[in-house]
Amino acid sequence: MTVPAPALLPTTIVGSLPKPSWLAQPEVLWSPWTLEGDALIEGKQDALRIAVQEQTRRGIDILSDGEQTRQHFVTTFIEHLSGVDFEKRETVRIRDRYDASVPTVVGEVRRERPVFVDDARFLRETTDRPIKWALPGPMTMVDTLYDAHYKSREKLAWEFATILNEEARALEAAGVDIIQFDEPSFNVFFDEVKEWGVATLERATEGLRAETAVHICYGYGIKANTDWKAGLGSQWRQYEESFPLLQESSIDIISLECQHSHVPMELIELVRGKKVMLGAIDVADETVETPEEVADTLRRALAFVDADKLIPSTNCGMAPFPRDVALRKLTALSAGAALVRGELTEATGVRP
Ligand SMILES: [Zn+2]
Repeated sequence: MTVPAPALLPTTIVGSLPKPSWLAQPEVLWSPWTLEGDALIEGKQDALRIAVQEQTRRGIDILSDGEQTRQHFVTTFIEHLSGVDFEKRETVRIRDRYDASVPTVVGEVRRERPVFVDDARFLRETTDRPIKWALPGPMTMVDTLYDAHYKSREKLAWEFATILNEEARALEAAGVDIIQFDEPSFNVFFDEVKEWGVATLERATEGLRAETAVHICYGYGIKANTDWKAGLGSQWRQYEESFPLLQESSIDIISLECQHSHVPMELIELVRGKKVMLGAIDVADETVETPEEVADTLRRALAFVDADKLIPSTNCGMAPFPRDVALRKLTALSAGAALVRGELTEATGVRP
């Protein structure tokens, strides 16, 4: 029996939490595992239990696995597919921003077996609260590979959308309440977003009864991202390109970053009617927000989103933080949300 989230301002995190040092090197993005074999499986499950316990203890309402079972938000998924050769690597430009050595698509891509379903089932057994699971979006997957087979980003994206839909349906059957697709590429390739980005994303969610979310952000606080952000000017209006399309789409929840970002709040109006997972915690700065700062961001957002559709969250993942910083930020998020929930309850009489 699931314990329902509060009707007003249920809190959640976008994705990752830091991993314990006995599982992977801390404060490093995408760091390799320090365990192997059965010890690794057990280690990941223990880390997941801790992630659930800390989120619960610190007042987070919709829980995730904190990505304790994944090394990378895209490649861990791709590793489980056939048609991709991880030995054959090419250097490509990721999101038009930084070069990375990536695996090559050498044949038809297929999901031979479930990817995260066992992990999701384990999360489901670990908590009574609603759970959310993140998958990469089709466009972001395409952008993280070298394609020597389809030779068409769009064609490959449709193939990935079909595969993602299979995985999403299996996650739903395992008891996942919200399935989130990470699409940071939506802030970069605007023509492709219009031509096939939103359409392939909708294909990935086809037939789901679980709620669906898309997370679009400006990335972790790594140098390539902070340099890119520095060149974006005083107003970040990238969401203006994708939001009108998403407003008309079948996606239920839009996740965006707002804390300390230069995103003008009024852009949220463009997805009016959708639920908004609002980033009220900065993931590029170790300074822990005060509850009042979080509350201030939420109050400003409420001018553009109905109170019953606002989900306070983080800007993005918190994997690179020291553990205590990430955990204190969870507390700040739920305390800030509680302040505003109290104000709304007083003003509207709606029980939280
Ligand atoms: Zn993100």
